[in-house]
Amino acid sequence: MNLTFIGTGYVGLVSGVCFSEIGNRVTCVDNNQDKVDQLNSGIVPIYEPGLKELMEKNKAQGRLEFTSSLSQAVQEADVIFICVGTPPLPSGEADLTYIKQVAHDIALEMDGYKVIVTKSTVPVGTNDNLKDMIGQLTSHAFDIVSTPEFLREGTAVKDTLHPDRVIIGTENERAAKMMTELHKPLTSNIITTDIRSAEMIKYASNAFLATKISFINEIANICEKVGADVTEVAAGMGQDRRIGSSFLQAGIGYGGSCFPKDTDALIQIAGNVDYEFKLLKSVVEVNKDQRFNVIDKLKHSLGDLKGKRIGIWGLAFKPNTDDVRDTPALEIMESLLEEQAVVNAYDPVAAENFRKGFGKCDSVEWSTDALAAAKDCDALCLLTDWEEFKEQDLLALQKIMKQPILIDGRNVFSKEQVSQTDFQYYSIGRPEIG
Ligand code: NAD
Repeated sequence: MNLTFIGTGYVGLVSGVCFSEIGNRVTCVDNNQDKVDQLNSGIVPIYEPGLKELMEKNKAQGRLEFTSSLSQAVQEADVIFICVGTPPLPSGEADLTYIKQVAHDIALEMDGYKVIVTKSTVPVGTNDNLKDMIGQLTSHAFDIVSTPEFLREGTAVKDTLHPDRVIIGTENERAAKMMTELHKPLTSNIITTDIRSAEMIKYASNAFLATKISFINEIANICEKVGADVTEVAAGMGQDRRIGSSFLQAGIGYGGSCFPKDTDALIQIAGNVDYEFKLLKSVVEVNKDQRFNVIDKLKHSLGDLKGKRIGIWGLAFKPNTDDVRDTPALEIMESLLEEQAVVNAYDPVAAENFRKGFGKCDSVEWSTDALAAAKDCDALCLLTDWEEFKEQDLLALQKIMKQPILIDGRNVFSKEQVSQTDFQYYSIGRPEIG
């Protein structure tokens, strides 16, 4: 099929590349000319493992192109995917400005029947509104489909090529058939449903995963007080198939461009119909507090942080991505600077993005390798569980630090590893060592 993806961010670019990989002719459109220029010269503007190779291959084979011009991309497409951002407004509601703009522009460029698919995460009812809006602007036939996206940054290519399930929300049989055909090479687990349920499946899924994380983090906080080990607890819980072991890793909480904004948006969606989503409000509150565990542990071990040198390992909200939107590292770094600590930070790929969005970046020392960030530090805080950090030699690390204090915000080191060192070791929901 001829496919057009509008928005070449994490979702649009990865999806476009992967759909070209399974044999479709794909055009990716973005209104950011810099991005389009980069893509046309073979530069991938985001860090996503495996994406560059696949992009180069499909470009070379003539199945994938990039443009900032919407009109040809719309006219040549059988199916148009909307993949632009839906960032949070100050109220927590999703900002639909970009999506409405794109729907408007598509309507004006249409020259025949199109299937218009929303991949962006949008509140329940948005696709019905888009349908009305487009219908008023064009006389050409079209159908609207909600196919929410579930890829995870860091494993986005794999998730797109091998999804757990594909949700197709539409009221129209012809569109459902086209979308089923399109997704068949990826999975046999295709669920067709109505548009509003599809929209809700996305929010409910993210809210449930966020709930699991906040739940295990609260269990971890209790474990610390009663002398239990949350990793043992989670392992025991996870063996129950009704519970499952995923998303039960205690730590400093979730971040990123999806969970924080989607939980806030769902609270708003409920509020708009006079329903107070009490459980989800608590999930969000627990998550906001959890990151400050790191500061509490630093104060517990060092006392006043003024003038203390603190190393930071990891700025991305999770490993294998350069995305720093709503990363816990932001507030942790701000707190450290407020306490007048001297901060030295390092991330394998996300430092540049972090610096762009962090107002006080001149107050921070930046290192280009992990050991340099830890050198002469009074304490080291691990905030992102990059593989590179897990592989560090703790004895060598201990030698270059001023004081061997390690705050492991992601529970990456084992008791056995730490016991062979002189580290004073604090993790989340596990007994202190040293
Ligand atoms: P992003 O911010 O990385 O990318 C959005 C892109 O859209 C940008 O490149 C921007 O330049 C482009 N854009 C904006 N307006 C445009 C216009 N009028 N015409 C053409 N291009 C335009 O966003 P993202 O992370 O890819 O997320 C997109 C949507 O998918 C959001 O609704 C998000 O909630 C959802 N989602 C994201 C993820 C994720 O892991 N990032 C996962 C699932 C769902």
